[in-house]
Amino acid sequence: MKTFDVLIVGAGHAGAQAAIALRQQKFTGTIAIVGEEPELPYERPPLSKEYLSGDKTFERLLIRPAAFWAEREVEMLLGQRVVYVDAEQHRLGTADGSVIGYGALIWAGGGHARRIPCVGSELSGVHTVRSRADVERMLAELPGVDQVVVIGGGYIGLEAAAVLIKFGKQVTVLEAQDRVLARVAGEPLSRFYEAEHRAHGVDVRLNARLECLEGEQGQVSGVRLADGEVLAAQMVIVGIGIVPAVEPLLAAGAQGGNGVEVDEVGRTSLADVYAIGDCALHRNGFAEGAAIRLESVQNANDMAMTVAKSLLGQHEPYQAVPWFWSNQYDLRLQTVGLSIGHDQVVVRGDPAQRSFSVIYLRQGQVIALDCVNAAKDYVQGRALVVGGTRAEPVALADASIPLKTLA
Ligand code: FAD
Repeated sequence: MKTFDVLIVGAGHAGAQAAIALRQQKFTGTIAIVGEEPELPYERPPLSKEYLSGDKTFERLLIRPAAFWAEREVEMLLGQRVVYVDAEQHRLGTADGSVIGYGALIWAGGGHARRIPCVGSELSGVHTVRSRADVERMLAELPGVDQVVVIGGGYIGLEAAAVLIKFGKQVTVLEAQDRVLARVAGEPLSRFYEAEHRAHGVDVRLNARLECLEGEQGQVSGVRLADGEVLAAQMVIVGIGIVPAVEPLLAAGAQGGNGVEVDEVGRTSLADVYAIGDCALHRNGFAEGAAIRLESVQNANDMAMTVAKSLLGQHEPYQAVPWFWSNQYDLRLQTVGLSIGHDQVVVRGDPAQRSFSVIYLRQGQVIALDCVNAAKDYVQGRALVVGGTRAEPVALADASIPLKTLA
């Protein structure tokens, strides 16, 4: 049995960054990354953006070139899925029967795309957007597709819709709630994006009630709504979130449920086992200390650094400010902070000009900003979020007053 001083499960953003951070912090022990995907770690955000549109090749998505991992002596054990963890013996097992030992284990399994729980979900032509393989399958089918139905009006669904409408496909977005982006953003942002997509020709349906997916000879042919309408579709894209990939850890006894619980430096309830990235359920100071999972590159990278330092004896609690972005059409959205629990929303600038910000306050304090084509607000607003600044809504709304003067 091979044993590594640090064994990382998951060759995604968080897993890759953990290895990079350990070497940056001069960790000299052995490191290996076990990943179920066959690829070296790559960036996931372009999957629904520049990779789907063909503007970036896969090589440009790699987080580091192959030579980097060899030079840093990070062993890559790819195409291997971890199926159990034996926390007492400090070892784990993969689906192909290998057993690998560890001094410390960093679990960075991210999540698997949630499948739609309805009849027809197994038909071919039904896709999720989580991995390179998912997008390759979509790209291979696209030439034979005229009509696409996207289930879920979250960021990934909307980004895919923006790309596919540009390809000349007929695109419908089905959102179960009464506005898109309802889980992550305030109403002004939702209404703006709904209008943008409609202006580009996307049929955005709100309060949509899905009945089932229909097919012919194993291939999807349409989406049936509860009111009996059938939307013809040769491709269906399901963007309804992820299920955290933590089963082996929970089965080993780690505390958790929706993800695995970690403390302020990423430790799980199992000895010498850490968790980072999308699958880590942590108390976040920007959410009033609530236990949440964040699905963002920022969170994956910053948690990786926290754990790397913790392994080297530097106890620096995770308290990085959350940030996020989304590209749709010529719109660059940049978000800082978490709008969870906001009680006031201020719109700064004019959405009609396609450059504006939505500012979220909780009890008078600025807690988050969504900035659309408004990089200055994003940069300057960050200080307001970090400082928990109290500011007058009238001043925040006045685009002639730079946000930095309010900090
Ligand atoms: P992942 O990157 O998902 O990596 C986890 C890896 O672990 C995967 O390769 C998985 O196969 C592997 N794994 C899981 N279980 C096992 C197991 N048992 N054994 C071995 N390997 C396992 N974030 C942003 O900040 N901005 C964006 O614009 C943005 N856009 C996105 C667009 C798309 C289409 C997607 C899918 C995500 C996007 N995100 C975006 C989110 C961001 O990509 C994730 O937050 C980030 O990838 C999380 O990193 P992670 O390492 O935790 O998980």
